[in-house]
Amino acid sequence: MTKKPRTKYLVGVDVGGSKTMAGVFTRQLKLVNALKISTKAHRGADEVIQRIVDCIRDTVDGAGLKLSDIESIGVGTPGVVEPRSGTVVLAPNLHWKNVKLRSRLARALRRPIIIENDSKAAMIGIHEVELRGKPRHAVGIFLGTGIGGALVLNGALYGGCAGVAGEVGHMVLSVGGPTCGCGKHGCFEVFASRTGMVSRLQDAVKKGEHTILEDLLVQERRERGALRSGSLRRAVRSGDALAKRVVHQAAEYTGIAIADLIHMLSPEIVVLGGGVIGALEREMMPTIRRTARAHSLLRFVHEPTIMASRLGDHAGITGAAALARDHRR
Ligand SMILES: [Zn+2]
Repeated sequence: MTKKPRTKYLVGVDVGGSKTMAGVFTRQLKLVNALKISTKAHRGADEVIQRIVDCIRDTVDGAGLKLSDIESIGVGTPGVVEPRSGTVVLAPNLHWKNVKLRSRLARALRRPIIIENDSKAAMIGIHEVELRGKPRHAVGIFLGTGIGGALVLNGALYGGCAGVAGEVGHMVLSVGGPTCGCGKHGCFEVFASRTGMVSRLQDAVKKGEHTILEDLLVQERRERGALRSGSLRRAVRSGDALAKRVVHQAAEYTGIAIADLIHMLSPEIVVLGGGVIGALEREMMPTIRRTARAHSLLRFVHEPTIMASRLGDHAGITGAAALARDHRR
């Protein structure tokens, strides 16, 4: 009888509202091969899950490996995720409710599957690889289509009693403020997510203000995502007054949210990521740092580092692979 070769690779997957990415990693979290596809969320859960399965198979194949070489697979998805039951409870960006993602992927791929919220997975990727596991207490804030958050406390991902803690995007920063996708008013997300900034621009245009982004704002009504963070950056850099004000306001609210989190958690580091920061780091980070400092009473005792992650869209797949590796079965 020939001895079976030891399986020693991991797969990390980041499922997003528009793109899904899968990567094959070594146990040391070195990326071997990665693949990005469009999620096609509007086609429903069955087809999206099949696309995730195909993307994983193709990534493994592209690395010259077989599924049997994969020790386990970690998957980060947006929304409220229950890692213990393996259920995506609610993911508005995917139009999912109570999807048993873990069991469905396990059935199709016959490998152990670990699922987690996408921001938590990205935070683990940043903490393990970019920050080398050093900070004991760290806060992650991801500004993208929405706003996600994740906490590392005492060296480990903190999920609270139900595994769902860290939803910083729905902290109310302006009582009676603009309506959020969650139904409340004045959430952090209505000011500093891409969707929120688009709504703030639309409100101002309705009141008679002008911006070079007007055509894209019309397009955005038909096709969500048409006005990308890169378009906002171009408008700001060309001196568009309205775009500058909306982006500045987003940075100020982010700084205020960070000051609140510093007061509660006193982290060593606050790390920012997501598409908005990827595109607008230079425009936003100085205001974010200045505002956070101005609003923090703890600055007399300790000032955390506030930084933008360098991992970009690899944070999610790296963290999902790390969660797969460290999961105790
Ligand atoms: Zn909200």
